[in-house]
Amino acid sequence: MNWISEWALPKIQTWLGRKEVPDNLWHKCPACEQMIFHRDLERALHVCTHCGHHMRIPAAKRMEYTLDPGFQRIELPKSPADPLRFRDQRKYAERLKEAQAKSGMDDAVMVAHGTIEGRRAVVAAFEFGFMGGSMSPGVGEALVTAAKLAVLQDAPLIVFTASGGARMQEGAVSLMQMPRTVIATQMVKEAGLPVIIVMADPTTGGVTASFAMLGDIHIAEPKALIGFAGARVIEQTVRETLPEGFQRAEYLLEHGILDMVVKRGEMRERLAHLIALLREPVLVLPEAEPRPVLEAPSPVAEAPVVPAPAAAARPEA
Ligand SMILES: [Zn+2]
Repeated sequence: MNWISEWALPKIQTWLGRKEVPDNLWHKCPACEQMIFHRDLERALHVCTHCGHHMRIPAAKRMEYTLDPGFQRIELPKSPADPLRFRDQRKYAERLKEAQAKSGMDDAVMVAHGTIEGRRAVVAAFEFGFMGGSMSPGVGEALVTAAKLAVLQDAPLIVFTASGGARMQEGAVSLMQMPRTVIATQMVKEAGLPVIIVMADPTTGGVTASFAMLGDIHIAEPKALIGFAGARVIEQTVRETLPEGFQRAEYLLEHGILDMVVKRGEMRERLAHLIALLREPVLVLPEAEPRPVLEAPSPVAEAPVVPAPAAAARPEA
């Protein structure tokens, strides 16, 4: 068989033009399977140039695409990991180290502050590549830090979610991050600051069941999977066939779970616009529109009994 794999197969591959291409030059779209050149993909913000599929992106890219240049990444407090000394096929501590080395992050959330089209904001972004963006005490700590920073800087908090849910290797400690992150977002709201959640593909489990559904504004990227339990589990439980597009962003928008579905290329502008609307509430009416009537015409004004202006303005009913 050796001569086939070593001599004949490469010959056939060359003849067919199916040369192995390095991973870093060409990317295959997971939706339409078309190949995209890395520079084109980068220019399109990792959205497929053929079918518009929004690919999963690292947290660092998210910051780069959202914030103005010159933003600052925040160093996050370290939290004790592996309280259960968990191991499955491998030690959890080993998996954690590997994820840290691969991503250059301590845990699955990155926090940065800066401006979006000149408007101040604190942004937290989940890294799905870090153990499926699962929620650990480190993630809880990151979100609490982001919330505190937003309050301190009098800036809105924007969280980009992409998570499989709680980190099972940390057991109950991981579940405790659900109320913790809820309190964190509440803290921002109590300071009168907006909390904007942008759900990327996928946002599921404990993240959906906690702070991700408690923002002031809920945005999602097109076709993002958003839900608590998986569709198959639900189908088996309710014994019904689920509708087309169930748990996808567009379906959730139609059913009132989301406020808007925004393409990645328009996200920055939309966020800046929302911050302006929520933080600088100046209502400018176009010239053509009639001015709103502030006082209802009083029936007393029609009968000129007393010419004093105070009598006309007196509320009767
Ligand atoms: Zn595609």
